[in-house]
Amino acid sequence: MNAPQRTPPSSAAYRGRFAPSPTGPLHAGSLLAAFGSWLMARHAGGQWLVRVEDIDPPREAPGAADAQLRTLAAFGLLPDAPVLRQSTRGAAYRAALDRLLTQGDAFLCHCSRSDHADAGGVHRACVPGASRPDPAVRLRVPDGTVIAFDDGLQGRVEQDVSREVGDFVLRRADGLWAYQLAVVVDDQAQGISEIVRGADLLDSTPRQILLQRRLGLPTPGYAHLPLVLGEDGRKLSKSLAALPIDDDAPLPALRRAWRALGQREQALAAAGDVAGALLSSRRHFDPARIPRTREIRIDPA
Ligand code: GLU
Repeated sequence: MNAPQRTPPSSAAYRGRFAPSPTGPLHAGSLLAAFGSWLMARHAGGQWLVRVEDIDPPREAPGAADAQLRTLAAFGLLPDAPVLRQSTRGAAYRAALDRLLTQGDAFLCHCSRSDHADAGGVHRACVPGASRPDPAVRLRVPDGTVIAFDDGLQGRVEQDVSREVGDFVLRRADGLWAYQLAVVVDDQAQGISEIVRGADLLDSTPRQILLQRRLGLPTPGYAHLPLVLGEDGRKLSKSLAALPIDDDAPLPALRRAWRALGQREQALAAAGDVAGALLSSRRHFDPARIPRTREIRIDPA
């Protein structure tokens, strides 16, 4: 299944977003996604929105959503529309799920996680006779479901979703909505035309495109920014303590993110505050300089 050719939207139609999960404070990696998506939207003369992905209360850190929004504000990254919280969106997810169930594209699954452990967690068919009071709901992914798309930064990406992922969860056995369903429903509801986010989500994108097709939704453009690793190759988000971002002194972190996006250091060198740095960043941002790799290593100094 090839992605149809897509024309980039005109500036009025460009709508980007940043969609953090409130599992803790924003770290250098998430700031890169926030700043990168903001820069791309501003560069295109479009809008930039923020969505709080608070659909997983067990993984949520108390107060983290508000702290993340405060951090974005301290960095001058202000959304062009009210923040959407996924915790308020159950009815929309339910409607999408019902449609998939009615179409026969989704099914109740009584299997337990261990039933598919031998297959690396890939679900291809339910084990016979399994029954539980709280079935999950999965998307049916028939054999040979290959999704390909052209990523704005990573180039051609192709995944055999049936082989590599299998039938995937839309609503969990504990009743919580799965990220894959919620993100697709909300990107559509918010009119997002371009998704700029970290390359750690590249593997999820084919699932999201498949869901868009099953739900009859348009597929936005995607650009996956390189994942920032420390010099030792560890994901920076895993060494938060080593690289906190400070709401009271945002300039150093903003400059670091700017460098990680491959931009010319001197463009922000003279800026004395965040407002000046953002103004200068808008003027000098060159998307062609963003590294087209899945990972970059930066010196946290
Ligand atoms: N909420 C996801 C995360 O924080 C990102 C979702 C997305 O950008 O699609 O990892």
